[in-house]
Amino acid sequence: MYIIMLGAPGTGKGTVGGLLSKELNIPHISSGEIFRNYIKKHNELGKEIEKYISEGKLVPDELAIKLIEKRLEEKDTENGAILDGFPRTKNQATVLDEFFKNKNKKINIAVDLSLPDEEIIDRIVKRRTCPNTECREIYNMDFKPPKVEGICDKCGTKLIQRIDDNEETVKQRLKTYHELSEGLIKYYKKQDILYTVKLNNKSDLTTKDVVEEIKAYLNKDSIK
Ligand code: ATP
Ligand code: MG
Repeated sequence: MYIIMLGAPGTGKGTVGGLLSKELNIPHISSGEIFRNYIKKHNELGKEIEKYISEGKLVPDELAIKLIEKRLEEKDTENGAILDGFPRTKNQATVLDEFFKNKNKKINIAVDLSLPDEEIIDRIVKRRTCPNTECREIYNMDFKPPKVEGICDKCGTKLIQRIDDNEETVKQRLKTYHELSEGLIKYYKKQDILYTVKLNNKSDLTTKDVVEEIKAYLNKDSIK
């Protein structure tokens, strides 16, 4: 089962993708996280990636594709994966289809999480992340604060704010997202694998509800 998580920054691709990954027992591959891990290495490649991310710009297609394909060549993705943040451009989507086709595989569903922009900005500036790669828990200072300020409930690591989680960068990320998302949504709609979940901060749709919705959709005979 190969699942694509579409949706603007801050809509919960990581949170929903993480829970889906546990329940379906397939790896959760976040392009943003892969890139952030390269940044941590402080080498030339990491520095180049940081330049784009810190300005809210996309990493160039060629580089993004190379690094994601490298991850998808790893054995744990043989029976499925959840791709969070990739593809981001029409070109990435076409290349990914070709990649899967060569392996006699295909994408089963593209989940589009949708949330109004104003709510996205508010969510992102209040977001805190656990940098421990084994944990990766995500908090929100308003609706999901950690029990002890600044410390991850699950693993005790000091929480961080991502370098791109500030208002200015979020606005740039949203601009880029809107320019590209329409094309991607059309692309998957045409393939009849698009599944949209409409969210808003006031709704009480929890991560678990969203995951259940997606699982119910995946269980329908028509998409198997
Ligand atoms: P969220 O805030 O929900 O994590 P996001 O989409 O803003 O969503 P990431 O997916 O973590 O955050 O991506 C962070 C940054 O990494 C992007 O702003 C972009 O610079 C870069 N990036 C991630 N995926 C891609 C991609 N497929 N192609 C190019 N650049 C990417
Ligand atoms: Mg993410």
